[in-house]
Amino acid sequence: MSGRLTVVGLGPGDPRYLTLEAAETLAGAQALYGYGPYLDRVPVRAGQSRHPSDNREEGARAMAALHHATQGAGVAVVSGGDPGVFAMAAAICQEIEAGPDSFRALDVSFIPGITAMLAVAAKIGAPLGHDFCAISLSDNLKPWDLVERRLDAAAGAGFVIALYNPVSRARPWQFGYAIERLRRQLPAATPVVVGRAVGRPDETINVVTLAQADGAFADIPPVDMATLVIVGTRETRVIARPGRTPLVYTPRAAVEVSA
Ligand code: SAH
Repeated sequence: MSGRLTVVGLGPGDPRYLTLEAAETLAGAQALYGYGPYLDRVPVRAGQSRHPSDNREEGARAMAALHHATQGAGVAVVSGGDPGVFAMAAAICQEIEAGPDSFRALDVSFIPGITAMLAVAAKIGAPLGHDFCAISLSDNLKPWDLVERRLDAAAGAGFVIALYNPVSRARPWQFGYAIERLRRQLPAATPVVVGRAVGRPDETINVVTLAQADGAFADIPPVDMATLVIVGTRETRVIARPGRTPLVYTPRAAVEVSA
C-alpha cells in the first residue's frame, strides 16, 4: 500500500498568505506533522491526527511522517514560510534518498509558501529588486567558518543578502559577528531592513544602517529567532517619506560593480 506525503508551506504567519493549494491539502490530510507552533496555525479538524515535534527534530519528524505515509495514509508535513527554504522539504528528500524503497514508492509533493525574505521585502518596497542571496546564520548544520566565507563572497559580489536564523538562545553571537564581517566590505551607510514576526500581530519592520545593525538597537525590538534581516548593497536606496515608513529598494540596473 503506497500513501501520499505532501510538504506544505504555511507562509510567514498571516493566514491570508497561505495559498489555496496549501489550504486544500491541509484540509484533506489524514495526519499532520510539524514543529508545534507551526502546527498550531492549522485549524483542528475531526478525524485528522496531529503529530507535533520539537524544532530540532527535523530528521526524526521526516522519518516518522514517511513511515506513516507508507502505511497508506495521506500525510502533510508543515513548514513555516516555504518548505524548501531552510526547512522540511530537504529533510524529507534526504530521508527518502537514504531510506528504504518504500519511501521512493510514495506519492510525494511539495507546496510552496511565501518565504520570510519575500514577506519582509514586500513590507518595505523592493530591497531584493536586483540580484540577491539567502544565508542562514545557524551553524548547527555547517561550520561558522563556512558562513563567514559565504558572507564575504556574497558581499564582495554585490548581492543583497537575506539573513535567516540570525540569532537563537543557543546562538547569541552569530548575528553580531556576521554584521562585523559585512562591515569589512560594505559602507557603514548600507541600508539594513530588520523584519520581525512579519504577518503576525506583533510584526515590526525597521530600517537601520549597517553601522547600527549590531543587534542592540535603542528603539526597535532586538534581532531574534523571529527576525529576518536584509542587508542591502552599495546601490540599495532609502526613500524617506514624511509620516510614513521609508521605502527601501535596490534598483533594477546595476550601476556599479561592488569592489
Ligand atoms: N522556511 C522558512 C524559514 C525557516 S528558517 C521560510 O521560508 O520563511 C527560520 C527563520 O526564518 C527565522 O529565524 C527567521 O529568520 C525567518 N522567519 C520565519 N518566519 C518569519 C517571520 N514571520 N518574520 C520574520 N522572519 C521570519
